[in-house]
Amino acid sequence: MEKITENITVDVKAECDVCVCGGGVAGIAAALAARRAGADVLLLEKSYILGGLATAGIVTIYLPLCDGFGNQVSFGIAEELLKLSVKYGAEVGLPEEWKNENPASVRAKAGRYQVRFNPHLFAIAAEQLLLSEGVRILYGTYACKTVSEEGRITHIITENKSGRNAVKIKKSVIDTTGDADICRLAGEKTRSHEKGNLLAAWYYYISDISNGDYKLNMLGFADIPDEQKTKEFFDNQLENGKRYSGLSGEELSLMIQNSHEKILSDIQKKRASGKPGLFPVTIPTTPQIRMTACLVGNTVLDCSAPFVNFDDSIGIVSDWRKKGPCYCIPFSCLYGKSVRNLITAGRCISVTDDMWDITRVIPDCAVTGQAAGQAAAMTSDFSSLDVRELQAALKENGVKLFF
Ligand SMILES: Cc1cc2nc3c(=O)[nH]c(=O)nc-3n(C[C@H](O)[C@H](O)[C@H](O)COP(=O)(O)OP(=O)(O)OC[C@H]3O[C@@H](n4cnc5c(N)ncnc54)[C@H](O)[C@@H]3O)c2cc1C
Repeated sequence: MEKITENITVDVKAECDVCVCGGGVAGIAAALAARRAGADVLLLEKSYILGGLATAGIVTIYLPLCDGFGNQVSFGIAEELLKLSVKYGAEVGLPEEWKNENPASVRAKAGRYQVRFNPHLFAIAAEQLLLSEGVRILYGTYACKTVSEEGRITHIITENKSGRNAVKIKKSVIDTTGDADICRLAGEKTRSHEKGNLLAAWYYYISDISNGDYKLNMLGFADIPDEQKTKEFFDNQLENGKRYSGLSGEELSLMIQNSHEKILSDIQKKRASGKPGLFPVTIPTTPQIRMTACLVGNTVLDCSAPFVNFDDSIGIVSDWRKKGPCYCIPFSCLYGKSVRNLITAGRCISVTDDMWDITRVIPDCAVTGQAAGQAAAMTSDFSSLDVRELQAALKENGVKLFF
């Protein structure tokens, strides 16, 4: 392939203590936690909306904060964002039983501690919250390169409407791109998801404008474990199980084009079968891709050990797919071995492929985001951070760390 060398000098247009790269749920939680811990925080987001997959990807189910038996396990910012997501109205709100101090037996009967939010209202509420707390947000801004010195990122090179510029890093960087982009750019060890992703084409429609019947159509199922796959899974599987890695611009473009085609044919099918007045009202503006690349960190968390207390736990998450199993997340699966002031959160932390399907969901992204943000405000060398101090700060901010 022909190659050219890009050799440009850029202006250092901004500086911050903590630079959060990616404004999905993990980035929102991370920015909030870092700011509340006293850091000057700049959040870079390549699109023009906060929330990532949860909003631009219209994945609007805030999965559970509980174990399925009425016991809440995820707290802190994970719970705060769940409530924020429905602050201006919910598509499906919290069961009454979860609003009060009811015993687990009562809560369990009412279902899990989860909600369905409206993507637009959640994005606006999150933006208002971050701005009110003093987080600076730079939209339309791609974090496209890192500059390092002696094992630390000193600058993030950005690209936006103003051109190519640099952000000076005074303390640390949080990779909440969902795809471990910053880790890869900085030379930290990453790996890609082995199987790749099935096509998804979730969209909202209104089936009859006169009566306002408004629905989320979840076209394309999650790649649940084989033993949980039912006939419904295979009936709802698009493109005969074709898979996408999500790691190339060309492939992602093809993926979103294919999802558009599926949305259109689904609409036409529904119109032909008794809903002639059906219109789509929201389609995804980002590829609905679940697992692409993640950090290979100091710990690679797997799902063989539910209910294990790790010494360096930063929070607890449940398994959204079934009642019961819950997992402590160790701090050591948020950072790697090479870049001292870089930490991850959200769907690109260091886990096995099986665990990935658990930790990638919205509440888990908020749990790891809060921990990453808190830690980023405290140090510019994650491997030498006193985990007890981090845990004390998280506990003070409402997080439950151990079983
Ligand atoms: C089809 C589908 C269905 C799902 N269903 C559910 C569900 O029902 N409930 C649930 O809880 N979870 C669900 N998930 C998973 C969940 O939505 C996501 O995994 C989670 O929201 C990821 O959050 P994140 O912040 O880690 O990453 P993302 O949401 O991917 O956010 C990353 C953000 O970073 C930005 N970004 C990326 N690269 C850069 C860069 N270089 N510079 C600047 N910005 C950048 C992106 O624009 C984006 O805003 C689903 C996912 C999919 C795809």
